[in-house]
Amino acid sequence: MSSPGAQPTIFSRIIAREVPATIVAETERIIAFLDIAPKAPVHVVVTTKDPQYRNVVELAAKNPTLLGELVAVAEQIAAERTNGQFRLVFNTGAAAGQTVFHVHAHVLGSVNLNEQLGEDSLGAL
Ligand code: 5GP
Repeated sequence: MSSPGAQPTIFSRIIAREVPATIVAETERIIAFLDIAPKAPVHVVVTTKDPQYRNVVELAAKNPTLLGELVAVAEQIAAERTNGQFRLVFNTGAAAGQTVFHVHAHVLGSVNLNEQLGEDSLGAL
């Protein structure tokens, strides 16, 4: 959980419309926007509006229903924007590449049926 007085995350500032982003999906509790530094032809960040969960492990333990909603939004985005096959990546911990400690998934995909994701699109996240 974020400590009292902690700075809002960059994602909370996007949710508050204080920082611009290209929002591609929004529900009552989930929001999705294009990653500012895409690592694949399709690269969308899907996050909870509630910033209290720092990573997917916390979200799964404390609110599995909300995790299910996040995954459902990710699947909908992938259905709309990719060839239907995609990666869903939750970096967990700084050593794993997590830089924003506000739970989020990366939807990574290609746009056409013949295109494959490179191996590096996972490692570079
Ligand atoms: P992480 O490294 O924590 O798994 O993922 C954070 C992601 O947020 C990165 O892929 C990074 O490019 C993205 N990101 C960071 N700041 C911004 C921003 O201001 N706008 C958008 N759209 N994406 C951001």
